[in-house]
Amino acid sequence: MLDKRKFYINGEWVDPARANDLEVIDPSTEETVAVISLGDRADTDRAVAAAKTAFASWSQTDPAQRLSHVEKILEIYNRRAQGMAEAISHEMGAPQDMSLGDQVAAGTWHIQNFITAFKDFQFIRPLGDHAPNSMVAWEPVGVVGLITPWNWPMNQVTLKVIPAILAGDSCVLKPSEIAPLSSMVFAEIVHEAGLPKGVFNLVNGDGPGVGTQLSTHKDVDMISFTGSTRAGIAITKAAADTLKKVVLELGGKGANIVFADADEKAVVRGARHCFYNSGQSCNAPTRMLVERSVYDQAVETAARVARETPIASAHQPGRHIGPVVSRQQWEKIQDLIQKGIDEGARLVAGGTGLPEGVNRGYFVRPTVFADVSNDMTIAQQEIFGPVLSIIPFDSEEQAIEIANDTPYGLTNYVQSQDGARRNQVARRLRSGMVEMNGQSRGAGAAFGGVKMSGRAREGGIMGLEEFMDSKAISGWHRD
Ligand code: NAD
Repeated sequence: MLDKRKFYINGEWVDPARANDLEVIDPSTEETVAVISLGDRADTDRAVAAAKTAFASWSQTDPAQRLSHVEKILEIYNRRAQGMAEAISHEMGAPQDMSLGDQVAAGTWHIQNFITAFKDFQFIRPLGDHAPNSMVAWEPVGVVGLITPWNWPMNQVTLKVIPAILAGDSCVLKPSEIAPLSSMVFAEIVHEAGLPKGVFNLVNGDGPGVGTQLSTHKDVDMISFTGSTRAGIAITKAAADTLKKVVLELGGKGANIVFADADEKAVVRGARHCFYNSGQSCNAPTRMLVERSVYDQAVETAARVARETPIASAHQPGRHIGPVVSRQQWEKIQDLIQKGIDEGARLVAGGTGLPEGVNRGYFVRPTVFADVSNDMTIAQQEIFGPVLSIIPFDSEEQAIEIANDTPYGLTNYVQSQDGARRNQVARRLRSGMVEMNGQSRGAGAAFGGVKMSGRAREGGIMGLEEFMDSKAISGWHRD
């Protein structure tokens, strides 16, 4: 068992102020793989103080200097990819090949995209020809608290730490206490890259502890959070008294609108995407809306995909799905599957209980419900497990109405070979992102939502601007 009780503060690994151990459980085996500490107010204060001191000089550095630090981080991150992938497999159950090829790779992708965006970033720009002496300057926000979840650990950490560093902010990262190991590897990477002490700090802890201490801290200027809508609301309230900037990337209940003229792989692609990462993605297309004329066929296809989805330990090679992250999540998913059955949806694949032949680990059967109506609990709540709800529709108008009838607004999906219709539907969906015909977002496109999905814009240029404040300057001297 790994001893990971220390925190990374002011450029060194330090003991917690007070012992408060938490075991990190491997969801494939249910065995303890590491022990960490849950931080205390004294630890949070120490990290914030280090960040505050570091900010004074870091914020004044030349952008080229910050860029070279991030390029170094990328180089070390790539070198340590294998160890990072293993940490993620152990802490949250992503199968080893997926962990390396997708989870770790997502971090590489984001860092690269930030580097590209940063090279062209204009920190000071003219307002326009109509006001020749007015400028807009982009300035670092200050000390930022970064609170991340367990489902895509390095995706989230790189989307926050890298733009913070590039912007000239200093930061305190509080990763998920359920999946803290990859972030501790990341802290080692940052350390090796030689970042000045205090620019990046890591304190482990839970929501009521370090999470709340950061959200309420008078010396923290901004919180960037990814996780549940519940916690996003709590953080917004906690941050109100200090009026800090709060940026939230929350849950989703994405609709995947499959028109009758969709390409032949659309349903298979949509079902696989829903089960990917064992359903633990905020942008998962969990509601498949299918045009009535192709509905029966789609239900059959999705059920077959569910039955054929291999499930195995995170520590085996192959393209299977792994367990969900924790017993608590497993139980929550079981309750929601049961609710689907109780509320009258038609179960066509999967269901409650462990998959056949499995007697340990938090494995969930890939599950498909047909004849779901959009007011059922399984169509409204984020399940965060491999559970697909299929809903029929009769017209484009009705499909848009059902898709938008959710508190969330993160990613929606459209499948149709009619380009004009696709474009029209995309514009009417109330979400921060729309992905069509299986085409994923372009490099540097902002990730984020509307409504109860929060309004963060992460990645690329908008993701850099998120970690800065703009300043309007007039009377600017121009040569
Ligand atoms: P969570 O929101 O409780 O935890 C995410 C992070 O927030 C963790 O680091 C946690 O310690 C911290 N946190 C929790 N409460 C906090 C508070 N009051 N103040 C400050 N920080 C706080 O998520 P979870 O319990 O790990 O998962 C529960 C549900 O959240 C899931 O079922 C899923 O629906 C959703 N979720 C969404 C995402 C996403 O990417 N949108 C990610 C993870 C979980």
